[in-house]
Amino acid sequence: MRTAPTILHLDMDAFFASAEQASKPSLRGKAVVVGGLGPRGVVSTCSYEARVFGVHSAMPMAQARRLAPNAAYLVPRFGLYRQISEQVMGLLRELSPLVEPLSLDEAFVDLEAGGTAWDEASALLAGKRLRDDIRAVTGLTGSVGLAACKMLAKIASEQAKPDGLVLIEPGTERALLAPMPVRILPGVGPATGDHLRRGGINTVGEIAEAGEDELVRLLGKAHGLALYAMALAHDERPVVAERDTKSVSVEDTYDVDIHDRVRVRMEVQRLADRCVQRLRGAQLSGRTIVLKVRRYDFSTLTRSETLRGPTDDPAVVREAAARLLEAVDTTGGVRLLGVGVTGLADYTQEDLFAQAQAQAQAEAEAQAAADGEPEGLGAEPVAAEEAVEEPEPVVERQWRAGHDVRHVEFGHGWVQGSGLGRVTVRFETPDSAPGRVKTFRVDDPGLEGAEPLPLVAPPVGEGLRRSPRP
Ligand SMILES: [Mg+2]
Repeated sequence: MRTAPTILHLDMDAFFASAEQASKPSLRGKAVVVGGLGPRGVVSTCSYEARVFGVHSAMPMAQARRLAPNAAYLVPRFGLYRQISEQVMGLLRELSPLVEPLSLDEAFVDLEAGGTAWDEASALLAGKRLRDDIRAVTGLTGSVGLAACKMLAKIASEQAKPDGLVLIEPGTERALLAPMPVRILPGVGPATGDHLRRGGINTVGEIAEAGEDELVRLLGKAHGLALYAMALAHDERPVVAERDTKSVSVEDTYDVDIHDRVRVRMEVQRLADRCVQRLRGAQLSGRTIVLKVRRYDFSTLTRSETLRGPTDDPAVVREAAARLLEAVDTTGGVRLLGVGVTGLADYTQEDLFAQAQAQAQAEAEAQAAADGEPEGLGAEPVAAEEAVEEPEPVVERQWRAGHDVRHVEFGHGWVQGSGLGRVTVRFETPDSAPGRVKTFRVDDPGLEGAEPLPLVAPPVGEGLRRSPRP
């Protein structure tokens, strides 16, 4: 095991709920619960203010509502969480090529492998800078744990929550673990925990005292040996970068539908260039070029073309994307365009975007299935191997709590609630003061679905990512 605390574990604080509070000024400092709102929905994340009432992740939503009847209950906006996740994972990749994401908001980083840290002082500095950078780029807080192994880095970030940093000095691990409950060790679930308790073992220290033979007797050879090693703070598991990259892709959503065909072509060329930049940045090349078009009515088309060999040539990707666009009717207007490359070859580094995308999609699908609701707008895959046409369920008139809307007169807001033919909207944006509430008929022609606004305004120059107002 290494002797310096150069394994970092990052965990964003109450991620979904914090993103909602950052988006919606009226919810800051308030109990916020994000999850499935249908009859079988469960809590995905809740704000620290909601935890005070006893609400926690994975709790049935009905129970949460009984505990915190006045909290704001919102449907997840995975599109936004994915964008923030991409920013965070990008910051982690600046520290090291060895980044192992565990979910949208959690990852291990091997700082030593990246040359970022080699001892306690340099690890501490890297951790502090990372937390500052995350706050500056995303507007949110993350907690950092630093230790000489993965298990302890994760325990450290848990201790650091919320909004903190904890470094576990090598040599102090066993004393730190000894009084902790056995459930803190990876691989100890409720069943193993009960089993150990019946054997008179409640703490990690008691596992160490019981000895290897006793652990093997209680849990069998493989599990017993592994757990005994963990109890002695022996954890040799390496940080492993994700290798199952499926695609590299970029996409843009437009505030106002694009109708001009020339403009659509230009946007596709620009996206192709950005996609190649990303591809080259990750030292990748790919064979299949994918174009994604979401039209004014939310129908989404994915078209692809497979080349004879892998490429990372911008001209080749631009041409292929342009050919794919020629077969797509955009006369009604376009809300979103995306260009991706799949069938990757010779890659040296994972693509967190695709990884996060796949995960968010799976989560959104599980959510939609659990709720019996149509899939969220950000939930469809960017890239598909085959050209498929997927008309999405009509969601325009489905006002989901917490989702973004735009009104011709009042501007950007979010759905606070709907029912009985009415929808209540609060008009506010991440950088506004808490906004006013207005109620409309659900079929108000001036109201339409909108894409989430970034939590932190992009720096000048990035402003080109959104279309200018007419
Ligand atoms: Mg978290």
